[in-house]
Parts: sequence; structure tokens; C-alpha cells
Amino acid sequence: MIYLASASPRRRELLEKAQIPYTVLAQNADESLPDEVLPRDAVELLAQRKCLAGAEKVDFDDVVIGADTLVALGREKLGKPKDEKDAEEMLSRLSGTTHEVYTGVAIWHKGVLFSGVDETKVVFRALTPRQIKRYVATGEPMGKAGSYAIQGKGGKLVKEFRGNLDNVIGLPVSLVRELLDKHEKRDLMAKAAEALTALYPDATCALEYGGSPWRLLVMGRLSAQCTDARVNVVCKDLFAKFPTPEAMAQADIREIEALVRPCGLYHTKAESIKEASRLLVEEFGGVLPRTMDELLRFPGVGRKIANLLLGDIYHLPAVVTDTHCIRICGRLGAYDEAEKNPFKVEKILGELLPPEESADFCHRIVHFGREICKARGEKCKECVMREFCRHYAKKK
Ligand code: SF4
Repeated sequence: MIYLASASPRRRELLEKAQIPYTVLAQNADESLPDEVLPRDAVELLAQRKCLAGAEKVDFDDVVIGADTLVALGREKLGKPKDEKDAEEMLSRLSGTTHEVYTGVAIWHKGVLFSGVDETKVVFRALTPRQIKRYVATGEPMGKAGSYAIQGKGGKLVKEFRGNLDNVIGLPVSLVRELLDKHEKRDLMAKAAEALTALYPDATCALEYGGSPWRLLVMGRLSAQCTDARVNVVCKDLFAKFPTPEAMAQADIREIEALVRPCGLYHTKAESIKEASRLLVEEFGGVLPRTMDELLRFPGVGRKIANLLLGDIYHLPAVVTDTHCIRICGRLGAYDEAEKNPFKVEKILGELLPPEESADFCHRIVHFGREICKARGEKCKECVMREFCRHYAKKK
């Protein structure tokens, strides 16, 4: 069931118009905030608080929507007016200006909260004091952020707006849909993670690095456009000859090249593993750093290897977007099947996968991609994921 943690009749109307079924849920979230919190941050924070206050009253499987709207003049937040005088003051300040309307939306489901903010720019006409008084006398400004209702008589005060109208009214429906969709996809990936864990409970990194961060760094670099099996064979001789980062940093480049030649691109790979070893020794005292930015400083290390290192060595949330992962998660329905951009996929899966499982998920999906969901000739009939796989549903 979907609960709306808001008493606003305007939000209810918008949900009804969008044909999203809901039940209203009362909540008493604390709405106080320090003045220095910026309007955009304020609405997101308050939407989250309302949502979490509502979530305390519902079942784990339910969905709770929280929202908060503010009018902003620069850094200043204009909420609901306290009384008519306050409403007149707000409208005088908005007169003839362009201001922003922000609505924060937060959606909770199964203990996970996703949130976002929509922004619309509104240009007000220059209003006379008489026009302002007349409008305030209608009673419409009371209970409205910024003291006006664009969907009512207040629409006459507005010269133009840029962005979503429903955001100004109080609930950007497109953002609500986007966040609901994210929850659905998160459920999908949780099912996929569960199925993969059952299939490959002990799957680990296919590179045999023996627990050494430096070896994994070297092997990760060598694995570009080369099979893990070949890297494992090549590295037996490589590490026998140069067993430490110090030894590799001081090695003759031609000796490294000769050893890594079977991995392909051997000039570049030899140069980068020598230089990466030097950097590790000289700048990091031999200890592999644990942040993405620092790891990306190592020659030949891109986000894929950096994530492999963060996940396997430091057990941090990390998504290794190799070709199997990109293909299979697209087929399952986490994103468009045509999506091939590793960085985009990493970002999407980073939000959808349970953080503590993301690194293992990526190892398991490689096995699954080699055995079942192959690039060509996927074995859907024997696949445990076919019940929830979008690709299979389309094929049927
Ligand atoms: S049902 Fe087919 S396409 Fe979907 S994950 Fe399984 S093998 Fe891949």
C-alpha cells in the first residue's frame, strides 16, 4: 500500500490526477531547521523527516511518500504565512521578482529511503499594495508556501514559470514516479542478488592475488582485454621474479615487458605496473589507499580496477562494471538494455544494490554471465531469474 505522509489537499489531488493510489497518513515530524540550511537542502531534509515519521507507523512492505515545498528568494526560505500581515509582506517581497519553488520528495520502502528535489522558476508580476491586499483578503494565501496558490486566484500574480507546474502546486509527480521506479528496481536487484548468492555462494575474485593489495593492483591492470586465467598464469612468473612493489619499481622495463607479453598491450601494461609500484612505495609507503580519487592516480587504474580494489581489499561498497555485469543487469531491467556506459551503470547499480553485497554481487554475476546469461545464447529456460527478468518477459 502507498501512504502519503501529508495532509495537503493539493498533493492529494495531484496523486489522484496521476492515478497513483494512496492513503493519507498523519505524522508529526519536527519541521524546525537552522536558518543557514539552504532552501534546496531544507525541502529534501524535511521531506525525508516526514517520510521517516510516517514509516514508523506502517508495515515493512508498504511505501511512504513525504514531501515539502518552499519558496526561495536567493538563500531565504519563505514558508507558509503566520497571518495576513505576514502574507502581505511575503507577496510584497515577491512582487516583480523571479524566485524558485523547491519541492523535496522522499519515498521509503522496505527500510530504504530515496529522495530528490524539483525546482521551478517563477516570475511574478509587479503588484500594487492594493492588489496584494485584495488577494490576501480572499484567504487563499493561508497555508501556502510563499503565500500564493498558482493553481488558484494566485495564478494571476504569475507572469511566467519555467519548470514543472505541479512542483509549484506542491508535488512533482514525475519525481514521485522516478523514485517509485527506483524502489521497484531496487527490489529487482535484491532478488537478483539473492538468486546469485544461492547459485554461487563462494564466488570470489577470479584473479589469484593471494590477499596482496599490490598484486591485485598489478593483476587488475594486466587483465584489461585479457582473460583472468591467462593473467593468473603470467603472474606466477612475474611475482616470482619481482615479489614486492619495491622490486617491481626498480625492475628493468624490458624484463617486465617480456614477462607480461602474453597479456597483450605489453609495452603500456609494463610501464604502468612499474610506475604504479613506484607510486605505491614512494607516495603511499607501500599501503594501498582506500579512496577512489587516490586510486585513480595510479597509472592504468580506471574506475573498474579501483572498484575491484575497494571492494575486495577494503570491503567497501563498490560496483565493478565489467561486460557481464553491464549486459545482465540491463537484461534484468535495472536500466535500458542498450546502455553500455560503465560509469552510468556504476552509478545506477551503486544506488540499487545493497551496499554490503555489491562487491560479491559483481563477482557472482561474472560466473553467471559465463555459464547462463551469455552474451550470445542466453539459457533462459534454465535460469532462476526468468520470473522477474524483463528480457525474458519480452521474449515470451
Ligand atoms: S532469464 Fe535469460 S536474459 Fe534473463 S537473466 Fe536469465 S538468462 Fe539472462
